[in-house]
Amino acid sequence: MSVEGMNGSPGSTGSVSSHDAVLVGAGFSGLYMMYRLREELGLDVRGFEAAGGVGGTWYWNRYPGARTDSPYSAYCFSWSEEIAQEWSWSERYPGQQEVLRYLEFVADRYDLRRSFTFDTRVTSARHDEDTNLWTVDTDTGETVTATYLITGVGLLSAPNLPPIRGLDTFQGELVHTARWPAAGVDFAAKRVGLVGTGSTGIQILPSIAERASSVSVFQRTPNYVVPTQNRPLTDAEKADLRARYQDIAKQIRQHPFAMPFTPTGQNALDVDEATRQAVYEEGWRQGGFHFLFETFDDLSVNEDANETACEFIRGKIRAAVRDPEVAELLTPRGYPYGAKRPPAGTGYYETFNRDNVTLIDVSDDAIEEITPTGLRTGTRRFDLDVIIFATGFDASTGAFTRIDIRGRGGRALADKWRDGPVTNLGFSTAGFPNLFMITGPLSPFANIPTCIEETVDWIFDAISYLRENGLTSFEAAERGEQEWTGHVTAIANMITAGKGEAVNTWFAGANIEGKPRAINVYFGGANAYFDTCRAVAAKAYEGFVLS
Ligand code: NAP
Repeated sequence: MSVEGMNGSPGSTGSVSSHDAVLVGAGFSGLYMMYRLREELGLDVRGFEAAGGVGGTWYWNRYPGARTDSPYSAYCFSWSEEIAQEWSWSERYPGQQEVLRYLEFVADRYDLRRSFTFDTRVTSARHDEDTNLWTVDTDTGETVTATYLITGVGLLSAPNLPPIRGLDTFQGELVHTARWPAAGVDFAAKRVGLVGTGSTGIQILPSIAERASSVSVFQRTPNYVVPTQNRPLTDAEKADLRARYQDIAKQIRQHPFAMPFTPTGQNALDVDEATRQAVYEEGWRQGGFHFLFETFDDLSVNEDANETACEFIRGKIRAAVRDPEVAELLTPRGYPYGAKRPPAGTGYYETFNRDNVTLIDVSDDAIEEITPTGLRTGTRRFDLDVIIFATGFDASTGAFTRIDIRGRGGRALADKWRDGPVTNLGFSTAGFPNLFMITGPLSPFANIPTCIEETVDWIFDAISYLRENGLTSFEAAERGEQEWTGHVTAIANMITAGKGEAVNTWFAGANIEGKPRAINVYFGGANAYFDTCRAVAAKAYEGFVLS
């Protein structure tokens, strides 16, 4: 049965349609993968998307204040001349609505929506060794088969609602930022509780504070927040991106975090105090990731160097927040900058100067219960009309383990990964033939659209290679995945981003109760990873088993 016949027709058909590939997700990953496989290889690809439209992260995370932390020139595709010439960003860090419009534009430009079935969640997938096919079930009761199962499910897509007693009893409105209602939330004259001060909580707070009657911010761990320094783009900047997008993409691919920056070549500990402060001031003025990546190269690898950046940020907090006790509570100590994913904010610290905003420290006085009228910590009660959970995600593996994926011999992927993910280069895991993961576990944590383009291209090449050579099966070799997983872990132990277990970072699965403490992402440099991927492909996919 052709994919066309099934489009937009979710629900049980009673029959099982077969396809070359099933593709899960219609975000950045799914759209580009669909384009390549369908338009360039002519494959029959059946896409499923749980959301009601394209966009992935940008479909779900509609909370006020949501915007990219990567600059506009990096947070986009570089594979299409048409997209580059016909699309124009308006801001330095595009907001959620604009990124969603961009992905809708891409989908329409290449007529990609017709290959996806929306409002349909893949619930299980099992590989049959005799037929060499995946059988995929959905929550609308449909079952399809395919040779390749390709996931574009996102690194941060499975929301984490902490298992606090009484969640169901709250009589007001309770929302998770990653499931923000399309109709929005009315904050006018409402008493709002905000749980979580990660990248999301930091982005949402200033917008709510302007509208709500009061906001109580429940903070467990203070964060190092650098200002975003967002602003409208000039016509010259827009024209420059159109003219040089390919050169910019090349530069980005050479950066360890796939950013349009160049390492500065200077170390914080090699310069005098006055120079160091001046460099940090300039990084602060540039904002966002400029502060981490365009000040000193040793911040990510040397804790003493890192501490100088931490001290600079602590000084900025003291300067921004009028009440010294509140400033002190907001001040992170005891862990390096970058051990938690560095957030960027707009007026975050200044928002605590407002009369209607209160900071509540729950580090030693945890939220114990959600009550019908609010919430209760160990010692205090709060009456609230709206509770917002900005409590993050079951990152990296969460989107996989929420699908019952079974490989050779019926083995569950969740079982294989019970001590942490094991993959070769994030693409594939042994025992799960023809399962290809776009930016899968143990691939780099870096500017995501770039990682997606690179990994989609690699999977596209691998599938092309299989077909050109009459091969039918592709999976990680056990030795290959052990070596890669060992390498990813060794790197994590060497750098500040790997030192976050103590501060609940999702990098190490440490934000989820009961999740194995194991590194989820690769920190050895996106640029080095891209080179490794190319070298592996050039050596006929060394470290993978093709048959
Ligand atoms: P997050 O970084 O995991 O932060 C979750 C927050 O919730 C933390 O402050 C955490 O406290 C708190 N929390 C969790 N359970 C709690 C509980 N039971 N009681 C009190 N507090 C609790 O999640 P996120 O902010 O959604 O960000 C996740 C990732 O998404 C980011 O790291 C980033 O990669 C991505 N993101 C990107 C953007 C962007 O690029 N523009 C924006 C938003 C998010 P602890 O710190 O103590 O655990």
